[in-house]
Amino acid sequence: MTLLSTSMLSAAFGQVFYGDPPDDHHPWAIHDQNRPKPPVVTPGTFSTPEQAGKPPSDAIVLFDGKDLSKWKSAKEEGGPAQWLVKDGYMEVVAKAGDIRTIEEFGDCQLHVEWAAPAKVEGSSQGRGNSGIFLMGLCEVQVLDCYNNETYADGYAGSVYGVNPPMANPLRPPGQFQVYDIVFRRPIYREGKVVDPGYVTVFVNGVLVQDHTPLEGPTGHMRRTTPGPFPERGPLKLQDHGNPVRFRNIWYRKLPPRAVEGGTDGWLTPEATMAKRREIAETIRKDAAKLPTPLPRMYRLFESLIYQKDAAAQQEAEDLARQYVASLRQLPPDQLTAKKDEVKRLDTVFQYLNRHGFLAADFGPKVEVQKLIKDQRWDKR
Ligand code: MG
Repeated sequence: MTLLSTSMLSAAFGQVFYGDPPDDHHPWAIHDQNRPKPPVVTPGTFSTPEQAGKPPSDAIVLFDGKDLSKWKSAKEEGGPAQWLVKDGYMEVVAKAGDIRTIEEFGDCQLHVEWAAPAKVEGSSQGRGNSGIFLMGLCEVQVLDCYNNETYADGYAGSVYGVNPPMANPLRPPGQFQVYDIVFRRPIYREGKVVDPGYVTVFVNGVLVQDHTPLEGPTGHMRRTTPGPFPERGPLKLQDHGNPVRFRNIWYRKLPPRAVEGGTDGWLTPEATMAKRREIAETIRKDAAKLPTPLPRMYRLFESLIYQKDAAAQQEAEDLARQYVASLRQLPPDQLTAKKDEVKRLDTVFQYLNRHGFLAADFGPKVEVQKLIKDQRWDKR
């Protein structure tokens, strides 16, 4: 078998002992079959100008065009959200005040659609102004910027007062605009920034904020300063006095980043080792349940890739010795039937030796290699 076809087989069947093992920053091996698989999400549908699309299956819907049951007034005294709901959209009622979600959340993929009034009134920041406040603190500007100039850091899709959008891809007023936002809140530990937090924004499918670092809560006229955010906060929509419409609002929760306990990405050596220990323990528990020696041996060797352990190593090596001893007892025809099994074991021994988990002169490894040569199994 050529090297190429071996790797193709491995890729196809996803065997362990294949890619590079875990290291100081990655608890998983390359192409690791023990790594959790991505959950299945049924995608939604895109919106048309006339009709809102469907959210993906794991989205939490905040407004589906029917009612404001997920919302309340953002005023201190609270109370129901007093915006108008009609024909599948909600509309800002001037002086009713900002509204906010009852639910609070942090990191998210957020989808919001909005439309400025078809009847153009006012100019600059006075035309079709509203806003989407992430965690109630950080405004992604909503403004009718179609043939309407204003200061750059106040355009639609700006992080208001902080960072202008990279483009102005707005449709004419009256038409719905689509915002897709990825938000990561800032993370501080003992007063020091671990991750500043970021916001990425697509307006009508055009990237306008590219992983823009947060600089604290946004505001008018005053420069903000970076600082920690709470764990969760509401999504807030702004009443800026203009009858802006919203529809199809949903979000998806995002998994934790490596700096907050996630196990994908570039981990600290401590976090990596903790995860590697956890994986090794799971595999060893699984190995203990396996009644047959060969699968049990493989599982124990596998566990060593994540965490060295003298007892597991000893048991695996003993099982290897027993297996090779059993091969010696076989009559020739029965030995021939073991060809694939033995060749597989040889591959695993080579992998383990290559990555420092098994000595080159380990008896069963040497014996298996010799057997393959003697049987000329390496020739076909
Ligand atoms: Mg605004």
